[in-house]
Amino acid sequence: MQIIEWALIMLKIKILPGCISCGTCEVVCPEVFKVSDVSHLKKDADLEQNKEKIKEAAQMCPVGVIEVEE
Ligand code: SF4
Repeated sequence: MQIIEWALIMLKIKILPGCISCGTCEVVCPEVFKVSDVSHLKKDADLEQNKEKIKEAAQMCPVGVIEVEE
């Protein structure tokens, strides 16, 4: 008998209103964030692969508008 365990870790990211377009999140994690008028999440970005950099970007955001939930 074969037993397969699946560990599914979901990461949710939101950019709340109030972004001042400083560009920090894109510098820290360009794989996920793109800043134009305000910061956006790139479509098809690999969130799990970039989890630590996303958390770092959220911590460094000067106005605290990047919300990360696991
Ligand atoms: S670090 Fe924060 S304020 Fe700066 S561009 Fe990213 S979301 Fe906007």
